[in-house]
Amino acid sequence: MRTLINSVFLMMMACSVSQPPDPQPEPVSQPYPVVFKSEPELIPVRGSMKSVGKWRHPPRIIVCDHALVDQLDLREAVAWWGTRGYPIESMSWNGSAPSCVGTMPWEFHTITIMLPTTGYNFQNYGSTTIYHEDGMLLGVTIEISDPRERVLEHELGHSLGWLHWAQRGHMMHPEWRLGGWHDAGLSVGE
Ligand SMILES: [Zn+2]
Repeated sequence: MRTLINSVFLMMMACSVSQPPDPQPEPVSQPYPVVFKSEPELIPVRGSMKSVGKWRHPPRIIVCDHALVDQLDLREAVAWWGTRGYPIESMSWNGSAPSCVGTMPWEFHTITIMLPTTGYNFQNYGSTTIYHEDGMLLGVTIEISDPRERVLEHELGHSLGWLHWAQRGHMMHPEWRLGGWHDAGLSVGE
């Protein structure tokens, strides 16, 4: 009899242990701190080169599906900045990245290159949004609608913190037709 009671007790214990836990409330999704957001296309800077910040570590680049970016063009643009002292950690083509599918507007430590999204101004050939805090770059998104010459280099320039410089022939000139390959002020340590 005592054995039977013991086994019943054990079974009850087992049952209570195997019961699913009470449902937990859904965690509030707030993975990122509130940061300052810059859209350089709207901020032509005159006078001198101006930067909103630097990457703590070399960022990675993720190219979303259907982005108007040729792989070779991207490698050339990355090399252009590499020779000026800005290394990139890695490049990947990852259409399922959260910043690509829209579950996150941007990703830490990442430059995401994508098709234009809602609100994009098609008078631009490209547009970059920089998320930064206290002089540190946190994440960047680049939207490209016309991958003509210099657009990728220019937008990568924003991704490295640089704002516009209204100097004719310069890479960071806000107007494509007045810009060029001049790189004054852009090299690390210059
Ligand atoms: Zn620009």
